[in-house]
Amino acid sequence: MSQDIQQKIQALRAELHQYNYDYYTLDESAVSDFEFDLKLKELHDLEAQHPEFYDSNSPTLRVGGEITKNFPTVQHQFRMYSLDNSYDFDDLQDWEKRVQRTLNEPVEFVAELKYDGASISILYENGVMKEAVTRGDGFRGDEITSNVKTISDIPMQLYGGFPERFFMRGEIYLTRKNFDKINERREEEGLDLFMNPRNTASGSLKMQDSAEVGKRKLSAVLYQFISTEMPAETHWELLQKSREWSFRISDQAKLCKTLDDVKTFINFWDVERHQLPFEIDGIVLKVNSLKQQSQLGYTAKSPRWAMAYKFKAEKVETELLAVTYQVGRTGAITPVANLKPVLLAGTTVKRASLHNEDIIRKLGLYEHDFVYVEKGGEIIPKIVGVNLEKRNPANREIEYIKNCPECGTELVKIEDQAIHFCPNDLHCPPQVVGRMIHYVSRKALNIENLGAETIEQLYREKLAENPADFYVLTKEQLLPLERMAEKSAQNIIAGIEKSKEVPFEKVLFGIGIKHVGETVAKKLAKNFESIEALQNASAEELIQVEDIGGKIAESIVAFFQNPENLLMVERLKTYGVQLENGENTNVLLSTALENKTFLFTGKLSLFTREAAEEMVEKHGGKNISAVSKNLNYLVVGEKAGSKLKKAQDIGTIEILDEQEFLDLVSN
Ligand code: AMP
Ligand code: ZN
Repeated sequence: MSQDIQQKIQALRAELHQYNYDYYTLDESAVSDFEFDLKLKELHDLEAQHPEFYDSNSPTLRVGGEITKNFPTVQHQFRMYSLDNSYDFDDLQDWEKRVQRTLNEPVEFVAELKYDGASISILYENGVMKEAVTRGDGFRGDEITSNVKTISDIPMQLYGGFPERFFMRGEIYLTRKNFDKINERREEEGLDLFMNPRNTASGSLKMQDSAEVGKRKLSAVLYQFISTEMPAETHWELLQKSREWSFRISDQAKLCKTLDDVKTFINFWDVERHQLPFEIDGIVLKVNSLKQQSQLGYTAKSPRWAMAYKFKAEKVETELLAVTYQVGRTGAITPVANLKPVLLAGTTVKRASLHNEDIIRKLGLYEHDFVYVEKGGEIIPKIVGVNLEKRNPANREIEYIKNCPECGTELVKIEDQAIHFCPNDLHCPPQVVGRMIHYVSRKALNIENLGAETIEQLYREKLAENPADFYVLTKEQLLPLERMAEKSAQNIIAGIEKSKEVPFEKVLFGIGIKHVGETVAKKLAKNFESIEALQNASAEELIQVEDIGGKIAESIVAFFQNPENLLMVERLKTYGVQLENGENTNVLLSTALENKTFLFTGKLSLFTREAAEEMVEKHGGKNISAVSKNLNYLVVGEKAGSKLKKAQDIGTIEILDEQEFLDLVSN
């Protein structure tokens, strides 16, 4: 029986690895996404039921889930050098002459795109991904293997005649599209937006929850094979071989026989880079022959056999027409430079973000200044300087607004944030509309047919000012709105009706309490069975809940102190929206573990981690995520590592095996 299951698990793993290979390397899919997901789920379920067959290389680890508090530091076996930069073609020619002089024989080059992301070094042993490490200071980096496993471009299992042990280096980056998606989601959730794809990619790699990393949908490209024994004589051959072993190698890399070929490559990509789905900041030129590479060697900082060529950020000059201010749905103010339209990197630019007051100050902007606009790593063009020679001395300096342009309320600046906010969240029009849009959004009440535009109209027509108003809308009220057909009006009404079935935790997220995001709402719903219970909780009681800090607790208390919010909640309740947990969600089975904190580590074999954590909760205990003095019990499975050691060092933590934990629960 057990053997059958093991075989089944192994077969599923092999099959899924093969599909991944077909899909990511050969670019063809042997099965539909649906079938793939089904198989993955089947494997996932089997693995959960049979933790004894754990495999650190299972395709299920692609979806992440491992939590890392501190990434271990790892010494690089081969130092990760940086690259020398050149900014014009003359520099590059000088470099080529130096190379020629040293070698005194014909030299070929490989020209590659310089991906703008974070570099990574990955150790493969016997065809299996072993360890992924960031560049760090070049000598030592952070071990982030579980995060890297969520990146589908990076194979966990190799094919063909790969060498036994080697390192593969490459760049992890975000496509523009996925970067935009992350920011759209953040906007929906009222979080600050990320500035550019590069920082977001490297920031994502350092997240503690690999499941969250997986959601970011990072991409990767590999560009260097490193080992003590080289299975080829040139860099180019190594790239082709790596591709056969199933690495994702850049399709744009080019073998160049002469510097003229290189020039053509550079000129082509200087223009075409704007059409790429990801960002590059230059090209990298590498001497092709490995023998020549080792003859050239390294300087203290970089290889002599490689050179980066950085593209100039395109820069144009234009007139600043006016600075206007936008009020976001969360009340954040964004200053915007309205520009005399100008062509930049293939698109007409009319506006540039100024981000915040500090940036305007730093630029020292005056009305009608002539400014330099650049398109760099950021998606939105930015102003990088002022042409002072063209300034008219009669003009005035730009003064940041003091009051909200939408509602007149005096703006506030939150400590240690550069951004201004309009604090009038209940009556400032964009914020009022924003709150309603948030309420209907996918992760909240998910009222599909009620879109942002309709909500804006409803607000303008004074038909809705807060989510409770949705529940008294009639078809007759909707029909006169612009572009509203009978059918869509019907769908909206039906969608609103259906939202009454949405569970408490999502409603809690939907009503828009500041700082209560999706996860916090879930935690709250788990710990408070109804909105009344939450309403009656003091800040002290709230911070007892895992992950709820002072800022969140205060914001919850403030929310329920406001009579308008209370009225909205009362109304929602009357209309039948779920403001308490359904049956059975929260029943305690016993209080055996009351006031006790637990943490599980190592490979568990009697139950899954989720099941164990649920047991703790059902018996009145609390799960915490790290070893500290606040921990009462550490339950250890097989191969427990650093957590066990830390707990032993602290000394006051009781260490249980799985059976002892079960005994504790049943007592
Ligand atoms: P820099 O950070 O300016 O010193 O440039 C060196 C970095 O460029 C490396 O650490 C890599 O992360 C990155 N890079 C991007 N694309 C490539 C490539 N094709 N070959 C080598 N390095 C690259
Ligand atoms: Zn306002």
